[in-house]
Amino acid sequence: MNPKAIRKICYGVYIIGSKKGDKINGQIANTVFQITSDPPTLAISINKQNLTHEFILESKTFSVSILSKEAPMSLIGAFGFKSGRDIDKFKDIKHRIGITGSPIILDYTIGYLDCEVIAITDVGTHTIFIGKVIDGQELSDVEPMTYDYYHKIKGGKSPKTAPTYIKEDETEDKPASVSGKYRCKVCGYVYDPASGDPDSGIKPGTSFEELPESWTCPICGVPKSEFEKEA
Ligand code: FE
Repeated sequence: MNPKAIRKICYGVYIIGSKKGDKINGQIANTVFQITSDPPTLAISINKQNLTHEFILESKTFSVSILSKEAPMSLIGAFGFKSGRDIDKFKDIKHRIGITGSPIILDYTIGYLDCEVIAITDVGTHTIFIGKVIDGQELSDVEPMTYDYYHKIKGGKSPKTAPTYIKEDETEDKPASVSGKYRCKVCGYVYDPASGDPDSGIKPGTSFEELPESWTCPICGVPKSEFEKEA
């Protein structure tokens, strides 16, 4: 199979929330889709290594916060490249608890769906959870973020635990010369001086060397010292 073929499938970008006892957690997922409309049901695919997986198995509930195109990389990075085992992902994030007890993100969310698990399918590295939608609201008219937009416009990467993860060298035709670009050794984000990092107030045309020492990877939050020059 040519891995580029499977990359043609379209997705959105979502935060899946769940709970375990009085704890809440959430993670980025692109694999969310509606199964039926009567009753309304959804399927999500979650990696077994993720803390959110453990929480959904335990509480049999999950929420889906649908992210807008305006969602910053810092939000996606906090929920996509960090573990709730290490940090409280909700500490500085506006959220509320839904009917099922799962957290709903209120910043950069255009709508949410709150679900009760009605079926579980083991698919090896991941589990497919099918949920019946108990509650859902529209929160804004801003366009949703698509996975394609996240990759192409925001320069986003997929963590190894994503259902759709493909090793980069299999899909990316790297230009012969990419001088001036630096790659994050932790998450794979590439800082491109031509684009800058507008989410962090870094103007296009700013070289990596000119970035302030306080600047951190917009996806995973590590400092400049964790970056290496692209060959
Ligand atoms: Fe990073």
